[in-house]
Amino acid sequence: MTEETPTRVDMEKIVSLCRRRGFIFPSSEIYGGLSSCWDYGPLGVELKRNVKEAWWRAMVQERDDMVGLDTSILMHPQTWAASGHLEGFADPLVECKDCHLRWRSDELEGDRCPSCGGELTEPRMFNLMFKTFMGPVEDEASVVYLRPETAQGMFVNFQNVLNTTRKRLPFGIAQIGKSFRNEITTGNFIFRSREFEQMEIEFFVKPGTDSEWFNYWLEQRLNWYVKLGIKRENLRLREHGKEELSHYSRRTVDINYLFPMGWSELEGVANRGDFDLVQHAKYSGKSLEYFDDETKEHFLPYIIEPSAGVDRSVLAVLCDAYDEEADKEEIRVLLHLHPSLAPFKVAVLPLSRRENLVKFAKEIYADLRQCWVVSYDDAQSIGRRYRRQDEIGTPFCVTIDFQSLEDKQVTIRERDSMNQIRVPRAELQKTLEAKLEGERFDTQPLWTTKG
Ligand code: ATP
Repeated sequence: MTEETPTRVDMEKIVSLCRRRGFIFPSSEIYGGLSSCWDYGPLGVELKRNVKEAWWRAMVQERDDMVGLDTSILMHPQTWAASGHLEGFADPLVECKDCHLRWRSDELEGDRCPSCGGELTEPRMFNLMFKTFMGPVEDEASVVYLRPETAQGMFVNFQNVLNTTRKRLPFGIAQIGKSFRNEITTGNFIFRSREFEQMEIEFFVKPGTDSEWFNYWLEQRLNWYVKLGIKRENLRLREHGKEELSHYSRRTVDINYLFPMGWSELEGVANRGDFDLVQHAKYSGKSLEYFDDETKEHFLPYIIEPSAGVDRSVLAVLCDAYDEEADKEEIRVLLHLHPSLAPFKVAVLPLSRRENLVKFAKEIYADLRQCWVVSYDDAQSIGRRYRRQDEIGTPFCVTIDFQSLEDKQVTIRERDSMNQIRVPRAELQKTLEAKLEGERFDTQPLWTTKG
């Protein structure tokens, strides 16, 4: 977390934009907020859905060797005994004897309180799982946990998937869902929260082919971020040393992003070997072996796990897209969001609120909404409206002016270049479709200005 580059954006700017424009609010804000829990607002929920959809499409729907699941957050408590979470999912907690702030001792540089310099207590291991009770009686027998990862839901369903889908190795199971961790230190906005969403893959392979598949998935996952528009130079791989490997892992490489606070984990790719299937077979008493029809062997597959955070991906996307440009006396704030992620793909802007103009604009709005999430804005000057759309990353604005009523042509204005082209109303949808798919904006413009 130490490297500096001049392009790194301030976290305050991201937080402020998110709040101002309705991407992300503190949870239960009217009560003063709840520490490290966040609510996604009207634009945030669209952005987050788009991130998840991009992942689901690329990782599940476009592949032959992957199926999806949506498993329960509450699981049989034995799951967590088998997985090692009950015993090992803990961080060393220290408390300052003076100001009583709590810290993770493995994250501290010295042996004093970073806030007041006070003396710290001896570390004690603090389990990160949230506990609750199932049913009306609150006793030890009814304790259940909010899952701290989505992975276990996929391991315990391995045989169900095998039996119902007839998938053969190598194949994967994918899931997106909420996870909960009672983190000791939180902060950095949505980077580390106590309730968050994960996008995880458990990819089952024949032992001996695991190293190859590990490299394959690392590359796939890195490319996925780049395809979504994240700059390659802001992504880095970090190999875990032997001493820091989790108990289940044979190899782990983190995909790190240059967040405002420095290089930090966006996703972890782990080779979990057969640890999970061995454990669940042992604790459940069920065989989780795979039968290879060709070699007639029974064995436990190895698992490669690319595990990504939805919220950290959203934060990385926002940080990477954020830009400020000098624009006359003002600063133009814009999000260079990939069109597939932008909350609105198109904004329809009638130049004035004159009745016949509004009627024409509303017709266009209704048509375009059949295809995309579209915004309609008729408040204030056109310049201001363009800026509002730039700030939330809308790739294209369609402007309807008085000339449009006569020649049935409208203006499309592109966010990044601010170039404008004029197209016949009848061609509008087709043109936007091509531009949203990445066709160059400056191909044969009828006329081009800045605005
Ligand atoms: P860290 O070292 O930052 O605590 P981790 O190594 O414990 O993360 P994993 O258990 O590998 O994280 O979880 C997989 C992914 O889930 C992470 O790469 C991250 O994107 C996401 N994630 C984990 N914990 C949190 C959290 N508290 N808030 C938001 N996202 C999280």
